[in-house]
Amino acid sequence: MNFLSGYIGIIGPPNVGKSTLLNRIVGRKVAIVSPKPQTTRNRIIGVYNEASVQMVFLDTPGIHATRTPLHKSMVASAIAAFHEVDILLVMVEAGLREHSGIPPIFKNLKGIKTPCVLLINKVDKVSKEMLLPIIADYGSRHPFSAVIPISALTGDGIDRLVDDLRSRLRPGPRFFPEDMDTDQSESFLISEVIREKIYLHMRQELPYASAVTVDEIQDMAHRNLMAISARIHVESASQKGMFIGRGGKMIQMIGRSARLELERLFGVQIYMDLSVRVEKNWTKDTRALSRFGY
Ligand code: GDP
Ligand code: MG
Repeated sequence: MNFLSGYIGIIGPPNVGKSTLLNRIVGRKVAIVSPKPQTTRNRIIGVYNEASVQMVFLDTPGIHATRTPLHKSMVASAIAAFHEVDILLVMVEAGLREHSGIPPIFKNLKGIKTPCVLLINKVDKVSKEMLLPIIADYGSRHPFSAVIPISALTGDGIDRLVDDLRSRLRPGPRFFPEDMDTDQSESFLISEVIREKIYLHMRQELPYASAVTVDEIQDMAHRNLMAISARIHVESASQKGMFIGRGGKMIQMIGRSARLELERLFGVQIYMDLSVRVEKNWTKDTRALSRFGY
């Protein structure tokens, strides 16, 4: 039998559940998830394997109306995905109000040749009667190949989605070895988990002003121990103060919850050295942006 494979892009406004879907299909956490929008800043790959099938999913930053250089670079990388994949999953939410990211998405879909599947996510939050008009409305704005209601959170509709995608794949190579389910390096995953904890513990706009770099990883496998040295970059001294917190409480809490999660992910004991550093206005400085990988 022929091997079937393809690249599949997941696009949509911030917070619709793109990263949750990626993790659900891959079967483990490869992308961070947050109740706050715009946590995914890079494109992240997750791989789904069967004996003679491989689907390579591309999670992307949410598309929204934007002005800052950081957000522009995030949106540009999401829109680039439209043309680089074999199938596009366009994800919207079964909510009441339309997100500001929807018009730019449909604008960029115009004339596109890539087969598009519309996913209505978070169906666990609405009744069946509310779903039909939502499907009809979004479905009429683009010639979608299929419309599939799902809940990335509960797993509802995911089998149907995988079946549908499998039927659209073409003969192709195995792009990634079978034991590899993401292209993220260990250090990137570590920095993402730290960022996730920043979003979890810090209030308001502060997480958006931060970037995380991992400076050193010492893998002491013989002692079942990993020593990580990482840094949080912020824009100003006052932000640094808030990241550290009174008596160092905040940075300790972020470090501790990141350490616990990483110990679960890697199955080793972790020693984490986490510090905060001021990098003046890094979200507006294109050189700093590229150094942080955006
Ligand atoms: P992204 O910005 O599109 O990557 O969205 P995330 O995957 O980070 O999810 C944003 C928020 O929506 C998180 O709090 C998720 O737990 C939540 N979420 C994702 N999928 C579902 C779903 O199917 N149902 C519900 N109720 N919540 C969801
Ligand atoms: Mg995301």
